[in-house]
Amino acid sequence: MPWDQAVRLKRRRTKIVATLGPSSADAATIEQLILAGVNVFRLNFSHGDHATHGATYAGVRQAATALDAPVAVLADLCGPKIRVGRFEDGQIALVDGEPVTVTVRDVVGTAGLIPSQYAELAADVRPGVRILLSDGLLELRVDAVEGPDIACTVVHGGVLKDRKGINVPDLALSAPCMGDKDRADARFAADLGVDYVALSFVRRPEDVAELRTVLGGELPARVIAKIEHPAALEEIDAIVAAADGIMVARGDLGVELPPEDVPVAQQRLVALARAHRKPAIVATQMLESMIEHPQPTRAEVSDVSTAVFSGADAVMLSAETASGRHPVEAVSMMDRIARRVESHLWSDRGFLTPDEEAPGRYALGDAVARSVAQLSRDLGVRAIVVFSEQGGTARVLSSARPAAPLLAVTSSQRTMLQCALLWGVEPKVVDQVTGESYRAVARQLVRDMGLAEPGHHILAIAGLGTGSGAREGDEPTTTILTV
Ligand code: PGA
Ligand code: MN
Repeated sequence: MPWDQAVRLKRRRTKIVATLGPSSADAATIEQLILAGVNVFRLNFSHGDHATHGATYAGVRQAATALDAPVAVLADLCGPKIRVGRFEDGQIALVDGEPVTVTVRDVVGTAGLIPSQYAELAADVRPGVRILLSDGLLELRVDAVEGPDIACTVVHGGVLKDRKGINVPDLALSAPCMGDKDRADARFAADLGVDYVALSFVRRPEDVAELRTVLGGELPARVIAKIEHPAALEEIDAIVAAADGIMVARGDLGVELPPEDVPVAQQRLVALARAHRKPAIVATQMLESMIEHPQPTRAEVSDVSTAVFSGADAVMLSAETASGRHPVEAVSMMDRIARRVESHLWSDRGFLTPDEEAPGRYALGDAVARSVAQLSRDLGVRAIVVFSEQGGTARVLSSARPAAPLLAVTSSQRTMLQCALLWGVEPKVVDQVTGESYRAVARQLVRDMGLAEPGHHILAIAGLGTGSGAREGDEPTTTILTV
């Protein structure tokens, strides 16, 4: 096929996560962001109070209902992310070679004095270690520790603003994954009814289990493990197994690891999540320059497209939509990049080919999902309708990256919204489907959605989510239907 003749797909497969904040949390902007293509909104608990997040949450639900859009909400807990405090003038300048004191005393910062919000910092560091500030842009070296004060020399200076992050990659800091604030935030988010909760700086699978205990409940929010600490990579398989999905949190990961290690980690993490049939979000600095400018750099466009090429479930915007000047344009740009790459992939050899190795837990489901992906290509089916009460079958099929759009059908509003994050899945709530009525439901849905016309083939799938048909009525079913 000539290089410029890719088919334009109607439906984007890669999902967009957008962070809400001062630039975007008003009703009108939320609506515009949904129309521009947001699938999941992120509430960042590193900033803002409960009243603000509660109002933003209500605004999202209201806009999504008004637009009849399947939009999920993800609450992102700050975890042991350590930050500087506030400065008298909102910022200070750090000059190369000059002394500066970092203090754990509860003070407002001034020139030469940086307050740390992490009280144990003075106890954890020792002379010689590097303190990185503001996503690693600025660097200090510790000279001496005197009680609550850490005397440092500026190695790489620049402007340091209020509440920027602190990283100490030379040390394993003693802060636990979930502090009191995270516990309170998790309970608050669960009470609101968010669909996903993301946990920052996960280091062990037990961290995920601890969050699940706090979330409790019958149909709890699903847990996204943010991979941003090198320790997580040591136990990554167990962490992905424990979580419901992962975020490649490149902001902190790129400070904790040498930058050249991050793209390789990203590729491996996306592939690993898919092997576990779980969604992976690629996050941070994707369209960073759009915080200021209406256009991204070419390198940023390339970065988003790399994530799409690698089959990530979702790409994420942080400050671009939370505090940037062009939140809606940033989402539109991501949407265009994803569609362009997907059109190319689809026209070329299809999305990713099914992987060779399945982890066993969904062995039967995987086998069926892989053959469904093949069948959908060979028959050129217009849609795959997946009956998935809890989303398991939708996850298994999504991870096979079939060529046809996936419609996930459930009677649970909860499942419907959680499916909004999955690659290629368009979720729908319907009344409980029983017996043979699934055929009529599937045909009606694809016609209503304009996906197929009479004479076209579609596939209807059920029963891949719980393993080998252990529960009665759960046997895998694959039906080829003619619309
Ligand atoms: P953050 O996480 O924005 O909460 O720091 C994402 C990242 O570190 O990339
Ligand atoms: Mn982070």
